[in-house]
Order: sequence, then C-alpha cells, then structure tokens
Amino acid sequence: MEPVIYELSAPGRCAAHLPELDVPASQLPPEHLLREDLDLPEVSELDLMRHYVRLSQLNHGVDVGMYPLGSCTMKYNPKVNEEAARITGLVETHPYQPVETVQGNLAIMHELQGYLAELGGFEAVSLQPAAGAHGELSGTLMIRAYHRDRGDDQRTIMLIPDSAHGTNPASTAMVGMETVEVRSDARGNMEIEALKPHLNERLAGLMLTNPNTLGLYDEHVLEVCRLVHEAGGLVYGDGANFNALMGIVKPGDVGFDVLHYNLHKTFSTPHGGGGPGSGPVGAAPTLADYLPGPIVARDENEAGATAYRFVMPERSIGRIKSFYGHFGIMVRAYAYIRMLGAQGLLDSSMAAVLNANYLQAILSEVYPLPYDRVCMHEFVLQGRLEDAPDVRALDIAKRLIDFGFHPPTNYFPLIVPEALMIEPTETESKQTLDRFAEAMLRIAQEAREDPELLQNAPHHAPLRRLDEVRAAREPVLSWQRPEDDPATDETE
Ligand SMILES: *Cc1c(COP(=O)(O)O)cnc(C)c1O
Repeated sequence: MEPVIYELSAPGRCAAHLPELDVPASQLPPEHLLREDLDLPEVSELDLMRHYVRLSQLNHGVDVGMYPLGSCTMKYNPKVNEEAARITGLVETHPYQPVETVQGNLAIMHELQGYLAELGGFEAVSLQPAAGAHGELSGTLMIRAYHRDRGDDQRTIMLIPDSAHGTNPASTAMVGMETVEVRSDARGNMEIEALKPHLNERLAGLMLTNPNTLGLYDEHVLEVCRLVHEAGGLVYGDGANFNALMGIVKPGDVGFDVLHYNLHKTFSTPHGGGGPGSGPVGAAPTLADYLPGPIVARDENEAGATAYRFVMPERSIGRIKSFYGHFGIMVRAYAYIRMLGAQGLLDSSMAAVLNANYLQAILSEVYPLPYDRVCMHEFVLQGRLEDAPDVRALDIAKRLIDFGFHPPTNYFPLIVPEALMIEPTETESKQTLDRFAEAMLRIAQEAREDPELLQNAPHHAPLRRLDEVRAAREPVLSWQRPEDDPATDETE
C-alpha cells in the first residue's frame, strides 16, 4: 500500500500559502483555551491533492459506476442542480430573515409544492419533512389527528403489507399505533381476503407502497383503497417508489389520502452520505388541513402584484422540522423538475420501467424470478441457483463489486428468500445495462464452477467483507491502516 498522508509528513512542508496580514491582528482567546500543538500532517500541495483524490476513490458512488440498489433509486444527480443550489442569492439567505426579503426563496418553494401536488394528484404539499421516514411519521400523525378530531380515538390499527419497507412499521410504532401485517398474494398484490377481517372501527388506516418493494404495481389498489375508506380508515402511500409513476399515475386519483415523496430518490437530489434528504408530504382534501407547516401561500393584490407568505394549515400537526425543511435540496429538486418538464418526467419514468424490464428479461433466464410479472422500476430475483447450492445472494452481491458495480439491495423484501432487488434507474444507458447483465451472467457461471471465488469476494476492493453491523455501530472515523481496522474481518 502506498504511504498515506500521515506517513509523508515532514516538518516544514506546507500546502498552503497565506497572504501577508493586512488587517489588525485580532486578539487570541485566553491562554488556557489555546492548544500547545496540533498533530496535523505537514505535506506538500501535491501530497494533499493525492490524499483526497485517493480517499474519494475508496468508495463507490453513482458518479463512478452503476448503483442498482433496489428501492433507493440511485439515479444520476445532475450537476446543474448543484449550480442552481449555489446561486449566491439563494445561498446567502437565512431563515430568520423577514419574508419580504426572501420572496424568491418562497417562490421556489411555492412552485415546488405545486409541481409535487400536480404530479401526485394532491390538494396540498408540505416540504417540511427531512426524509422519507420523516414523511411517514408526519402522515401517520396526520391520520391520528384526523381520527381524534372525529372522536375516533380507538382507531389505532395501521395495516401494513408484508412487502413493506422497514420504516413503515417503525414510523407507525413511533406514533403509538399498532401495526398489523397483511399477507401478499401469489402475484405480489395485497391479499384482499387477508385485509377484510381488519375492516372495522379500530382501523386507523393502511400504509401501502405502490409499486411495492417487489417492483410490482398492486393490481387491486383501487379496491383496497375503497375498502379501507368504507371502513372509516385512511390510506397512506409510501411514495419512495414514485420514480415509476411520474406523469403516469396520480396517487391522489387512486385513493391515497397522504403520500411522501423522496426528493433524494425520484427527484435526483444527493442520497446517502451525500444528503441531507427531503421527504415532502402531499395530502388529499381529507387531510390537507393537517399537513405539517408552515407551507408557502401566494397572494395577489388588486394591482396584480404577487407576494408569498408562510401559513400554518388550519389543523396542522405542527412543525416537524426546524425552520422550513432542507431548502438547498428543494432548489435542486426544483431545478430537476424545471429542466425535465412534464414530458421529461414522464419519459424518465417510462425509461426507468423499460430499463428494469429489460434487465429482468435477461437475468430471469438464469436467476429465479419468484413473481413473474411485468415489473415497474425494479424487480426482485433470487440469488440462489439450483446447481450452485453453496452460493448465496450475499456472495453474488459481493462479487459484483469486482466488476465495478454496487451490489443490489439484498435480503429485502423479506418475503423473498435470498432476495436480490435490482433497480437500474432511467439514467443508465443500454450499454451499461448490458455490461451489468453480462457480469451477472458470468457470476452465475462462476457460482457453478468456482463457488469459493464468490464466497471470498470482493477481490478488487480496498476492503473485503465488512462486519456491517459493527461498521455502523462502532465506526472508525480516524485513519488507520486496514490491518488494524477493527471493522474489517480476518480475511483482510
Ligand atoms: C427509501 C425508502 C423509504 C425511506 O426513505 P428515507 O428517505 O430513507 O427515510 C421508505 N420506503 C421505501 C419503499 C423506500 O425505498
């Protein structure tokens, strides 16, 4: 391994050149607050440059290669979004400024609320929540407030299909509701017969992801929404998978009362370590008054002049986030929507669905496909081959790293054993999809011929297999040689 920055340090080397002091020197803090010395490496500019570029290469990102992490919609984040978010007039504003001085910011928020409402078929949208799960929490609080306003305090049961994302039952439990799991049928839809016993006066609602985490559009969704409404319940839509639907289906028209969008998935804002996220919620007339606030309203005076202001929805559950949500992220999503336009958003969803079906068709020739239907934006294979019994989904996922691909989501959804959940997104070209398919097919062959090759993968990554739980719980955040990194297992 090449020497790292701490080993290259030599006294007196310096990568920075500060100009002569041409202002009065400021007073230093009292002596006892000052450090004697600070153990920083002393290196040249070139060493510094290499250090950071090398660090940036240790991790996989969508700017490096395909990232087919199902459910997460790791599409390309257009760099023009970043430029928009860095416009001086936007960057140099502060949430404590009087609204008259930040009308441009409010105009962007108001338009974004409008675009999301239009795409989702909703009455109103709040941009407050900071992530998808935070949107779920908001929506569940809204549903609870709705029932309490009607004196229906006993409505505390939230139905959640067995194909749901883990955040769904977690959000429900945080609000103090009871979750009841509902089976999926053999085609991956919600089982209507399993739903029926719960349609009573204890029902608060149903939380449904559509398309679900199998990448399938629920064929009974209209009936499901109707049944829940007839029983006095409301329907929450987990809209994290909205990338499949833009311009095609409006969840509000289907019967959803409230839904969250993931700006950091569908609307191309940075994701994961590149966050922060944003999970706006849209609401139908049933719940619009309960949205978290403030939201932006537009007024027009008699002379036709426009003014924006913050308002609290009438029966709002209140603030769910400090200030107004993640404004810089809103600007990026706004830029994305304006860049694509209505037709472009529709085209994106069409291409996302086409790309997924293309890969599904090729890969299902070799890997078992438990729900054999036309998929939406993603699909779930089994990473288990009859003639390679010693190889598991995890081994296939890890081997993909050697081919330059991020592994798909694995072992989720829980209803598919050895699941590999693949979401190519619309931003990958046919050439890249073909290279990915080729890698997957070659891995299947390797699984039969040389299972150990897969079991010990990855072979060409900076680190081998990590103890993922420990890496998350006890992260090592300072530099150490991989050999003494406790988050790396013995195979390193
Ligand atoms: C990503 C995701 C969520 C949660 O969104 P976060 O922004 O990560 O909190 C919820 N449901 C589904 C289906 C998702 O894919």
